[in-house]
Amino acid sequence: MDRKFDEFFNQINQQIEPIDYLIEHSKQYGNVDGLKEHIFCPECQLAKLTFVHTGKGFHLRTHLNTKHLEGCYYDFEHIDTKSATEFFKSLNKEQIQSKLASMMRYLLSNKNNISVSNKIDALQNNPLLIEQKEKTNTQIKVRKSLRRQKLTGYIDESIAGDLYIFYGNVKLSVELYTSKNNFQYYKLIIKTKNKQGEWRYRTSLYRGKTKDDIDVDAIYKIVFIGVANFKENNEKTGKYMNCKKLTRYLHFV
Ligand SMILES: [Zn+2]
Repeated sequence: MDRKFDEFFNQINQQIEPIDYLIEHSKQYGNVDGLKEHIFCPECQLAKLTFVHTGKGFHLRTHLNTKHLEGCYYDFEHIDTKSATEFFKSLNKEQIQSKLASMMRYLLSNKNNISVSNKIDALQNNPLLIEQKEKTNTQIKVRKSLRRQKLTGYIDESIAGDLYIFYGNVKLSVELYTSKNNFQYYKLIIKTKNKQGEWRYRTSLYRGKTKDDIDVDAIYKIVFIGVANFKENNEKTGKYMNCKKLTRYLHFV
């Protein structure tokens, strides 16, 4: 079972770092040998992680002889996309907004400043863990985790096709498009900051007739739920992530 980590706890400087930190290090030195004893789970900080580079890209995996703290997000299996979609579709408008707001607090608060008691509280009330009936005809429920993907930094194509909670600190803008049959619609353009400090196109979301009120200079926190694919994008050169968002599942502040 491959659970993806987009960040890790660096035991050397006691900070949560993005996986990009290890990618850069391995490019510079050819390996991460100097760091490999110090890479831990970003949530429970107990389980040791291994950095791997395969043909599919860069990954962090739970080290074979190590365990996550009970209740840690990374201790649960991912829920399948069909069940996750059904779960979200069963929520009403208010439930959706409150769910997205708590996901935002969980994913985008500064984890380096959270006290130990708040960390335990976060582990117990994790909005990314949901209960699922084990089989159709039983009442037995198991907790499973929703997949998550930070919008900033390294993203590879292995996330395609599954339902993810996308999140990050982003810049936004709105563009108006006209289709061939003269239908006009808006897109929300999402930019993330690269390691040179430049804001670059990451993806865009179809907004239909909704024209979001955006300050293009502001930095927003965003959470949305959707499925990505990586097709060639004619408007931009090269392969870009396209996201098909679940209707209404967008929250930014
Ligand atoms: Zn953990």
